[in-house]
Amino acid sequence: MEFAFSAEEERWRREVRAFLDAELPADKEFNHEFTEDEELWEFAREFTRKVGKKGWIGLTWPRAYGGLGRPLPERLIMAEEFARRDAPFVNMIGYGLAAGTLLIGGTEEQKHRFLPDIARFDTFWAEGLTEPGAGSDLASLTTRAVRDGGDWIINGQKTYTTWGHRADVMYLAARTDPDAPRHRGISIFCLDLTLPGVSFSRLDNLGGGRQNHTYLDDVRIPGDMLIGEVGKGWSYIMSAFYAAGGISARHSEIQRMLDAVVAYCETTVRRGRPLIEDPTVRSKLAELAMIVETERLLAYESLGDACNGRTPAFAGALGQVVHKENQPRFAQLVGQIVGPLGQLRTGSRWAPMGGDAEAWYRASYANHAGGTSQVKRMVLATRGLGLPR
Ligand SMILES: Cc1cc2nc3c(=O)[nH]c(=O)nc-3n(C[C@H](O)[C@H](O)[C@H](O)COP(=O)(O)OP(=O)(O)OC[C@H]3O[C@@H](n4cnc5c(N)ncnc54)[C@H](O)[C@@H]3O)c2cc1C
Repeated sequence: MEFAFSAEEERWRREVRAFLDAELPADKEFNHEFTEDEELWEFAREFTRKVGKKGWIGLTWPRAYGGLGRPLPERLIMAEEFARRDAPFVNMIGYGLAAGTLLIGGTEEQKHRFLPDIARFDTFWAEGLTEPGAGSDLASLTTRAVRDGGDWIINGQKTYTTWGHRADVMYLAARTDPDAPRHRGISIFCLDLTLPGVSFSRLDNLGGGRQNHTYLDDVRIPGDMLIGEVGKGWSYIMSAFYAAGGISARHSEIQRMLDAVVAYCETTVRRGRPLIEDPTVRSKLAELAMIVETERLLAYESLGDACNGRTPAFAGALGQVVHKENQPRFAQLVGQIVGPLGQLRTGSRWAPMGGDAEAWYRASYANHAGGTSQVKRMVLATRGLGLPR
């Protein structure tokens, strides 16, 4: 067995790298999930529009809807290269969740109306799924959408709305039929966040980013802002990210982090010798490398499944559990390597790696996004292994 990309795919990788070399200065590489710096965000928007101009936002989507119809491995390669450089490629909810929903459930008219817009990054999307009383148990959501003539009237509260204060629209899950079984009474809407009745309050996270509470008070939206069919929201939410070509390249992100830790160990002297020569440090670096390789192989398996139309092993939950539980583990190991000074923040002259160790540690606990590892373990056990509930 050989894990290698084809010559054509490697050519594509070089093209992506050349784009990044030309468009992404080193001081603009940043994690946009945990940064609220306005100047960096301005850059992120401009950078993403340039990605859109190349046609790469909708790389794998059909050409008719603003895509380039390219094969899935190219999407993963692009994600790997973007992650390797910490490229601020924003609007994940737009090009992932919303685009996927449109591709699997949208009418022809909706696909032509929304997808080219997302492919250009004309509209920034936030995600409106979680509510104060509906997180892991998302199907118990109570935000209501009620028909009023040709419009819908929306009432309810969403929470944890990442990028809500920056976005133009929300991918909203609301209950349209309170009498239907829980999973069947939910529909998806595109909700304009500038409409009367929409307000936010801030919810700062430990990692340095901002989520929001979103309040929806008699918000009137036109009938044509329903996406797909009434009552099909649950199935769209469950399969949309994959439909839009979303395959995680986190292995590439943690490879970059590992490279930085190794460079630190090579250049830092403790008790008269470089850290890289310390056997305890070497053992921890080896553990970090194992985490990177495990996640790389799981991502490639996922790609193989998607390319060959195979049902993912363990209902796709194995990679998610490994990934979510590795996040804090990775940061803790880095903390043990750099030592107690690793608790110091960026800005302190004593902070190792410019404060990255401390920032990675705080951000590593944001692993509830997209569902907690406990819940993914439950999916693995019941749907993946067939164990009883
Ligand atoms: C950084 C971040 C960004 C996010 N961004 C968004 C966003 O943009 N839009 C959005 O809609 N949501 C967003 N979320 C919300 C995210 O989807 C929820 O946090 C997640 O689904 C868990 O829900 P909860 O926080 O209400 O936890 P709860 O569901 O209340 O869970 C609390 C604890 O109980 C455990 N638990 C719950 N049920 C079970 C069970 N049946 N078996 C075993 N254990 C269980 C959980 O694992 C967890 O440890 C974000 C969250 C984070 C942290």
